[in-house]
Amino acid sequence: MKYRFLFLLLICSISFAQNYTRQDSLRGQITAERAWWDLQHYQLDVTVDIDNKSLSGSNTITYKVLENADRLQLDLQEPMRIDKVVQNGKELKWTSEGIAHYIQLQKKMKPGKEEKLTVYFSGKPRIAKNAPWDGGFVFTQDSNGKPFVANANQGIGASIWWPNKDHPYDEPDQGTVISVITPKDLMDVSNGRLIKVDSTATTKTWTWQVVNPINNYGININIGDYVHFGEDYAGEAGKLDIDYYVLRENEAKARKQFEQTTGMLEAFEHWFGPYPFYEDGFKLVEAPYLGMEHQSSVTYGNGYKNGFRGSDLSGTGWGLKFDFIIIHEAGHEWFANNITHSDVADLWVHEGFTNYSENLYLDYHFGTKAAADYVIGCRKNIYNDIPIIGDYGVRNEGSSDMYYKGANMLHNLRMLIEDDELWREILRGLNEDFRHQTVSSKQVEDYISKATGKDFSAFFNQYLRTTMIPNLELAIDGNQLKYRYTNIVDGFDMPVIMMLNDQEKWIFPNKDWQSEKWTDTINFVGVKRDFYVEPVMVED
Ligand SMILES: [Zn+2]
Repeated sequence: MKYRFLFLLLICSISFAQNYTRQDSLRGQITAERAWWDLQHYQLDVTVDIDNKSLSGSNTITYKVLENADRLQLDLQEPMRIDKVVQNGKELKWTSEGIAHYIQLQKKMKPGKEEKLTVYFSGKPRIAKNAPWDGGFVFTQDSNGKPFVANANQGIGASIWWPNKDHPYDEPDQGTVISVITPKDLMDVSNGRLIKVDSTATTKTWTWQVVNPINNYGININIGDYVHFGEDYAGEAGKLDIDYYVLRENEAKARKQFEQTTGMLEAFEHWFGPYPFYEDGFKLVEAPYLGMEHQSSVTYGNGYKNGFRGSDLSGTGWGLKFDFIIIHEAGHEWFANNITHSDVADLWVHEGFTNYSENLYLDYHFGTKAAADYVIGCRKNIYNDIPIIGDYGVRNEGSSDMYYKGANMLHNLRMLIEDDELWREILRGLNEDFRHQTVSSKQVEDYISKATGKDFSAFFNQYLRTTMIPNLELAIDGNQLKYRYTNIVDGFDMPVIMMLNDQEKWIFPNKDWQSEKWTDTINFVGVKRDFYVEPVMVED
């Protein structure tokens, strides 16, 4: 998610004036107080006081010691506060610097050992004004006046409401248990499987378990008067349980709209390999905002309409063939939840591939031309304002071009590979080789170069690390075509398919003028639309 094009102008002005602070570094770096411990498990217990819009609870963190150390960084953002930290029955002291809290352990930890500590916290979490764009909690009501509560915190960070290691590089290897106490007439839906429900006269405790690694921004609470239905899906890795939780008032609409789920799984398993979290099941959960890729509990608020809130982002009509939130957010199960960026500067690995997945969904169900129409149609949303890759170590995202330009770069790459079976093997291979891991863009780029036996480093540098669109300068003289690239990085020499009169022909431009003779006088010249370059006619 993080679909920010509406706010682009605002974001641009912020991005250009980027002066990083110490807080940015504390958030964005793998600090010494983070590096020495490897997250194994979170057990998050939360009571949501809906009337007061407040939370209280604890997080028991299990970690493996990698190096001798006795100071541990956890993150929690104001106005939430840490009330107490306990390890082995003893209370620990801590000091705070903004969102970073340094827990002083009783002794130096021994490498190889597994340890636990419990952090108690409480407060009124930030309320999202415009979820999911700004992030925070949403407290609202359904049309029957029942409370409807959820969090969305991509970008701003999970530490907006609970204390955790708020950096994407480290995920709890053994998963997470989330227990949420709600009033007894409401239900909480979180990630993974419902393993237990405890009741008192006035409350219910809903305990959900995720057994796979999970990115912390994916951990979520959804409280409402939900009705549940589900189905089994015979997938590549066996039987997958699909569960739907929707507001009572929307059950009929949801039963119709969510018929798209199995077609989504079929398309994505074809292109990307098995759904990455069979053990945790797959859910669509209605939320009081547009949607988010919460792992194994994808949240949905697209109004049971096709397109993006009923509109087609590509302007071609193909965007109305599917429910944008079902397809896009579920696509993130492969790119964001299975393969997760290790630094948010590489967020395109989530958003570029997932935007591209919309085109692959169309390809699977409607054919290659529909898919190309869609992804190329989305080019009008590219700004080329700042590079797609942001600054590392300071929690900085690059341009929102990570969506449409990222997708068009991948579409272009598919043309260069010229072998759809190999391309599919690469997409599946990425999901297999980087399964449940956090990776850098560079690792993904190198994987593709290695798998194809071609060095794509200049190609990736051009599109990911600059805002320059390659200009393909063309000059025609009778039956001779001259061409060269300008506006390119060192070594950029991407071949393209030219349309010459009514025929297609590969040419191999670089920064120097080259020429080729054609048998006939050239009456028409153009670049095949799949290539994201700017043709420029120049006088010979
Ligand atoms: Zn997304």
